Amino acid sequence: MKETYLKIKPIQMTKYNEILKVNEENNDILLNFNIGIHKYCGGIIDLINISDINKAIVCRHCKLRIVIPASIETHSELREELKQKIWIEAGKDIVG
Ligand SMILES: [Zn+2]
Repeated sequence: MKETYLKIKPIQMTKYNEILKVNEENNDILLNFNIGIHKYCGGIIDLINISDINKAIVCRHCKLRIVIPASIETHSELREELKQKIWIEAGKDIVG
């Protein structure tokens, strides 16, 4: 039987190197609430539905809010989506 328990590695959320420490007991499927902790800030991070096509990850403490497509359902997909967002934002900074 395949192991369903995974220890998910921390996920970088922004170009400022903000880190989501994923709850260790989670498997790869994202929960709606309390998906992890905002490292250094210490706030709990929730995933909420904000429209028919988007969700947002939101920190309860510092109010960090990142909009992502509603189709994202796993930590792997979230990691990939945020990586692409960070690349695009970093590129904009370089272009000016
Ligand atoms: Zn925070």
